[in-house]
Amino acid sequence: MDCIFCKIASGETEASIIYEDEDILAFKDLNPQAPTHILIIPKKHIESLSACSQEDSALLGNIQTAAAKIAKELNVSEAFRLVTNNGAKAGQSVKHLHYHLLAGRRMMWPPG
Ligand code: 5GP
Ligand code: ZN
Repeated sequence: MDCIFCKIASGETEASIIYEDEDILAFKDLNPQAPTHILIIPKKHIESLSACSQEDSALLGNIQTAAAKIAKELNVSEAFRLVTNNGAKAGQSVKHLHYHLLAGRRMMWPPG
């Protein structure tokens, strides 16, 4: 399988890693859309949130608590956005579940 985020998770492709635990990896987005733009992924390949099942509940919860921890470490706890683009029409370009942690600028609502 040719998945760029699996390659980052395995160490085959380089990334600027800022958080790692047994199941989760977080690294800087290559094309940042905000002063802070981190991608948080499960190490195991899951295509999207829609592909998750009840078995992934703990992992999904852990991704959120990891996001809060990362935000704290990066001093952006007060204002950040955590978002996943689910499906091509929603803007998903990499088919490996990932959450964008964005901060450091004013966020618009609704998003485009
Ligand atoms: P999506 O558009 O699927 O929601 O988000 C994919 C994100 O992955 C984009 O923001 C894009 O800049 C980022 N990205 C794509 N390829 C790479 C890569 O090889 N390394 C890193 N660090 N980010 C990547
Ligand atoms: Zn993958």
